Amino acid sequence: MSSNEFAREAGIRWQAKVGIICAVSILAYSVEVAFDLHERTEEILESNEAINLDAFFLISQLILLTLVVFKIVELRREVRYRRAAEDKALFMAYHDSLTGLSNRRKMEMLLNELPENDQRAVIMLDLNDFKPINDVFGHEAGDQLLVAAAQRITSAVGGQGEVFRFGGDEFAVLTGPVASEKEVAAMASGIAVAFEQPFAVGSVDARVGTAIGIALLDSGTSNRAELLRHADIALYDAKENLHRSFIFYEPEMGDQISKRMEMERKLRSAIDSGSVQPHFQPLVNLQTEELIGFEALARWTDPELGNVPPDKFIALAEETGLITRLSEHLLRLACKEAVKWPSHLKLSFNLSPKQLKDKLIGLRLLAILAESGLSPHRFEVEVTEGSLVDDKEAAREILSGLRASGIRIAVDDFGTGYSSLYHLLEFKFDNLKIDRSFINNSEKPGDHQVIVQAILALSHGLGLTATAEGIEQPEHVSKLVDLGCQQGQGYLFGKAMDGKMAETFASTFSSDTKQTVKLAAV
Ligand code: C2E
Ligand code: CA
Ligand code: CA
Repeated sequence: MSSNEFAREAGIRWQAKVGIICAVSILAYSVEVAFDLHERTEEILESNEAINLDAFFLISQLILLTLVVFKIVELRREVRYRRAAEDKALFMAYHDSLTGLSNRRKMEMLLNELPENDQRAVIMLDLNDFKPINDVFGHEAGDQLLVAAAQRITSAVGGQGEVFRFGGDEFAVLTGPVASEKEVAAMASGIAVAFEQPFAVGSVDARVGTAIGIALLDSGTSNRAELLRHADIALYDAKENLHRSFIFYEPEMGDQISKRMEMERKLRSAIDSGSVQPHFQPLVNLQTEELIGFEALARWTDPELGNVPPDKFIALAEETGLITRLSEHLLRLACKEAVKWPSHLKLSFNLSPKQLKDKLIGLRLLAILAESGLSPHRFEVEVTEGSLVDDKEAAREILSGLRASGIRIAVDDFGTGYSSLYHLLEFKFDNLKIDRSFINNSEKPGDHQVIVQAILALSHGLGLTATAEGIEQPEHVSKLVDLGCQQGQGYLFGKAMDGKMAETFASTFSSDTKQTVKLAAV
């Protein structure tokens, strides 16, 4: 039974009780009048002089009065209790118990009651990176943060609207009547600014931003219920464009979002059904041209969509929070293959930037390695520099933990993206993977060659291995060997192949056979 129904039923029960008391009193009075009880009592008393008439009446009236007073007090107490229960139930039905803010139901009620031609806006917010705070610092800390967030939103809105909590880390604002989109934009940017300061979570300062989606009642939204759906769609878009402080709903967004939702559904079931598989690209020692291992690269073939490029579905997995599940699924399968290879061959595995914010990632990776029996010494993770800039402290903790367990760390696509030489001092790496855009044309003198030479000098100086990516021609190999590059990969040695082919490839080019990869692939 809902709290509302409970209150209604309690009210009905109380009314019934009062009704019964009244009915009994009226009945008693009627009986007294009908049978002339009062006079009969007097007659009995007069015939018996031993009874003092006045005292009898006084005592009986006092008892009656006491009973009436007692009943009135009891009834009033009951009324108060029922009213409080009713108020509480009503409050609970329309409010969030943690923050005291109104809830989604109340927003729906208010939207339905809005007068015609009232220009309003719904601003929908979703906190970024709230989940890790809950996971790492516990629910109590998470609750504190939500209360603080509610206060910040409320003071940013001021008296210009009502703030709601829709559940989890989702909040909303129903603005008062607004004259223009500009007015709403000003309020939204005020809210965004309120999240720029970190939140105190225990003894730590946690940065939690917010995505903001907005729908206006006059933007073709005749149906009030649609207003919430539109704000939801704008929020979905905002979550994918976190560099923008807020996003207004536009009618075209609906189509894009349903397409995305369909892709997300497909990816989810592809992971569950095992249609996303790791393939393996050979890694080669350039000096000896011997196979040294494989890089696992994700492949997804969908019956309707065909081969979906990894760039595309990995980005989707990151945006939809599926990345941890996808990555663990791929790693499990990749390790299962790697343990079949000769034991000197290593497995290299890509980690997405999102994973470097998850403080438990190290434990998760090690658990999967242990489960499959692959030694951490045969395992290398590849991270891009971009993944190091967001939360340096978390990345440093995760990477140093992995290194301490014997896992090697490679910097992927080195020289592109958010490059900073300072990263080489701040973090401990083992391998620099030179992006394939530099390898292309590096065989002849020119800018590309100069950059490759500089990266190699850097890696030698710092005692790191260097791996050249995207080797397609034998001339690349000879130049790279001249320049002192130790490792490489590329179509010249082999494209990514499925597990079975990789197993054959591994046994063919194991060091016992003395076969070199380049000779075989050409
Ligand atoms: P990446 O880690 O830089 O992977 C190397 C990419 O270069 C692969 O593309 C590979 O097929 C391609 N490649 C290798 N040799 C050559 C070559 O000689 N010429 C050319 N033109 N390309 C070559 P792919 O498989 O499409 O992967 C693209 C990106 O997707 C990867 O770049 C990586 O960032 C990401 N990715 C792939 N699998 C995973 C995964 O399991 N987890 C994560 N987080 N990311 C992955
Ligand atoms: Ca890689
Ligand atoms: Ca790469």
